[in-house]
Order: sequence, then C-alpha cells, then structure tokens
Amino acid sequence: MCPAIPASSPVHPNRIRILSPGPPGPPSAGPVVYWMFRDQRLRDNWALLHAAHLAAAASAPLAVAFALFPGPPFLLGARARHLLFMLRSLRRLLLLSPFPFFLLLHSPPSHSLPALLRRLSASALVADFSPLRPFRSALDHIVRSVGADVAVHQVDAHNVVPVWAASDHLEYSARTLRSKIHRLLPEYLVEFPELPAPAIPWTGEKPLEIDWDELFTDINREVGDAPEITWCEPGEDAAMETLLGTNDGFLTKRIRNYDTDRNDPTKPRGLSGLSPYLHFGQISAQRCALEARARRSSNPKAVDAFLEELIVRRELADNFCYYQPKYDSLDGAWEWARKTLMEHAVDKREHIYTREQLEKAQTADPLWNASQLEMVYHGKMHGFMRMYWAKKILEWTNKPEEALSIAIYLNDKYEIDGRDPNGYVGCMWSICGVHDQGWKERPVFGKIRYMNYAGCKRKFDVDAYISYVNRL
Ligand code: FAD
Repeated sequence: MCPAIPASSPVHPNRIRILSPGPPGPPSAGPVVYWMFRDQRLRDNWALLHAAHLAAAASAPLAVAFALFPGPPFLLGARARHLLFMLRSLRRLLLLSPFPFFLLLHSPPSHSLPALLRRLSASALVADFSPLRPFRSALDHIVRSVGADVAVHQVDAHNVVPVWAASDHLEYSARTLRSKIHRLLPEYLVEFPELPAPAIPWTGEKPLEIDWDELFTDINREVGDAPEITWCEPGEDAAMETLLGTNDGFLTKRIRNYDTDRNDPTKPRGLSGLSPYLHFGQISAQRCALEARARRSSNPKAVDAFLEELIVRRELADNFCYYQPKYDSLDGAWEWARKTLMEHAVDKREHIYTREQLEKAQTADPLWNASQLEMVYHGKMHGFMRMYWAKKILEWTNKPEEALSIAIYLNDKYEIDGRDPNGYVGCMWSICGVHDQGWKERPVFGKIRYMNYAGCKRKFDVDAYISYVNRL
C-alpha cells in the first residue's frame, strides 16, 4: 500500500483527502502520478509537493499528467481564448518540468487517466481539487475505474484554506465565512517549501510529442468564435510579473489605491489583473496573499481590501459551488430570492432583448454595450461593470432563469477568467441574490439588489469608460 501521508510531508494533512487507500500490503514502488487540472504550475503547488513527497517516501518515480476534455464543447464550453492561454503555458511547463509530463489530448480524463495509470503500473494518483461538477464526476469515475489498485489522494492546492477545512456546510454570506477563514489563516497561510528533485529517475514510458501548431490550428478552427487575446501573456513567469514586476507589478506599483480604485471602471490598472492566472492556477492565491501580507505595513487599507477579495470572496465562491450542486441554477438560490424573483417574473419589462442582441451589444444602453464589448474583445470586463452588466440582463429578459443562463453563457464564452466558481457565484449574486440580502422591493428585481445607469453616473465617469472601451 502506498503510505497514507508521509510523516515528512510539508503539506498540512487537512489539505489532503484520501479518496482511495490503494491495495493492502507493502508499499509498491509503482510511479506516483499527479493529475494537474486546476493548479497548472510547478511553483507553490501543494498538490505537486504532496505527490513528490509521496513518491520519495515510497522510493517511487513521479510523473505529471494533464488531460484535456477534448473536442467541442471542450470543458465547460472553453473557446480558443481559454484553450490557447492554457496550452501555451502548459507547453512551457512541459519543458521546465523535472518530471515526465504526459499531456493527454484524445479522450476525456475519465478514460485517459485510468488508461495511463494502468500502462504505468502506477501506485498512486494525486489530484487537484475543483468544486465544479465536470471535474468532480471525472474524478469519481477515475476512483471507481482504478478500484483498489491505485491509491487516490486529493489536495486542495487552489484555496488558501482548503474548502473542506474552512467550513463543512454551505455558508450564507461572506460574513459567516470570514471569521472561520481568518481563524485558520495562521495554520494555512504559510511559506511553501522548495519542490524536491525527483527521488527516483524516470525510466518508464515516454510522453508523446505534441504537434503544437496542429493543435492550435484545430482549436482556432473549432472554437475560434472567442479568439485568443494577446494583451495578457500566459504562464507562471508572466503571472509573477503581474504580481511583483518592477515596471508595472500590482503589489510593487499599482496597489496603493486598490480599496477605492477597484470600483472605478475608468481605472483598470487599479485592479490586480490576476484573475486569468488565478483561474488557470498559473499562480497560487497563497503566493499572492503571502506577498501582499509582507507589504501590509506600508499600505494596510489597500492590502486588507485585496486579501478580502483574494481569499474571503474567492473562497466563498468555492464554498458555494462545493456545497450547492445547483450552483448555476435558480434552484441554487436562497428561498427568499427564488420567491421574490418568481413573484416578479410576470412584471412588464421596459426592454426585452434576445441572447443574440445582447451578445452583439445591441441594446439602448451605451454603458452596458461598452461593458459587453470590453468582454468580447478584451476578454476581461472590469469587476464593477460585471455587476451592472449581469443585473441589466435580469431587467431585459423574460424570466430570471433565462437571464441567469444568458449571463453564464456569455461570461463563460468571453471572459478569460470565466468557467470559474467566481463566475457562477458572480452571476448568482447579481441575478439571484446569493450571498446578498433582500433590498427594497421594486418591479422585475423584487428584493434583489438593483443597479442603474444613474447610479453608475454618480460613481464614475461613464463617458470616459465608454471611450476607453472604444480605444481597446
Ligand atoms: P481584483 O479586484 O484584483 O481581485 C483579485 C482576485 O480576487 C480576483 O482575481 C479574484 O480571484 C478575487 N475576486 C475579486 N472579486 C471577487 C468576487 N466578487 N468574487 C470572488 N472573487 C473575487 N471572477 C472570476 O475570476 N471569473 C469570473 O468568471 C467572474 N465572473 C464574474 C461575473 C459577475 C457577474 C460578477 C459580478 C463577478 C465576477 N467575477 C469573476 C468576480 C470579479 O469581478 C473578478 O474576479 C475580478 O473582476 C477579476 O479581476 P482582477 O483579478 O483584476 O480583480
């Protein structure tokens, strides 16, 4: 049997879940395989660190595997902009990895992973964590498929406080999760150790060569309707540059007024710009938090505001998707919100737009159209505008379910950081009141928080934002 959790492991034991203990008997020296899917990095990665220590303790070699969910609609409808951002970074990881790196392209992970484990006579699989249904069902399938032959461990390498350690139930709001997270930070927000060199050299099967040009051409042909974005360089180095770069790094140059500027869409540099990297796991949120905390004394207000978004809000989204299987449906909303939305579903709307009109930014509201175009062409809408954007979809469609499904469809198709728990929760917050409270009742919205053009005009220079988007 593969050792449960090596005593020498630097990984907090509550970060690891043993999904299958593996066969009884003495430890096998079959390879340990790390299935990377949400945390696509070699640095600061608790799952990879756990796999490396497991391999060292069993005197076994270690390999890394990444499996594409192949063919349109790929995973959660990924488009060229998502796949190319991800694959360009993975191409570099393949070159840099001290371990053989298997990129599995041709069948879904529920098939390609068990087949690889069998071919390699693997003793253990270490998997990342994601609360989203397709990953969970693929992992369940893999655990069933390998049976008792292979130990399967899962490590939450994405959250600072592992989702199951932060709370064992669906939290009502940031208020109820915040104190739990803060209490656990001293235990989990700790420095990462170095990734150890391979304990045993790899002598097994060699990963197949990838024809990258062909792969990229296929992707552009099949899902090029949200084409690649070029302003945001993919990869671990680019992510660290965005965080700490000497020219324009967020913590080094741009964080000063984060607590106020983050709500001003005319100041896009006021945000960190880290969401593409966090979404694809090209940087660890824990690294961002450690670096921010180290600079807190010079700017406590801005750092605290950033840590609130980065840790509490982001991990609240994982909590929601983990404990609420209907995280992308009106059925996943709280009772009060469902009731008020259904009561107002019959209210007369001033405008009704189809999904196609919305997608093409053909509404009577130039501010909304600008935000939609920012998302379609730039691939990242400003955080403040995302709230206004989603709430207007509720106002302009026939039913709340329709509004939610259109918002999620557009968000997932065009946002570079889309197809993420933050996206599902952002849409659910805006349209279904999740993690929010009831407000003064009004037509269409019922008790869901309302936003309008006049409010935006009071908050920021709407025309300046529209001209900024036109220049993109
Ligand atoms: P920063 O303000 O610098 O934030 C730093 C990090 O904190 C973000 O990268 C993110 O990981 C986290 N964060 C910030 N705001 C939130 C929030 N409200 N909820 C949870 N985590 C947060 N975020 C996504 O990552 N992917 C999405 O698809 C997504 N869709 C959204 C849709 C709607 C309708 C709404 C209202 C919000 C959505 N968000 C989404 C949350 C938020 O708008 C983005 O995380 C943020 O704009 C990303 O830019 P940034 O990294 O520069 O932000």
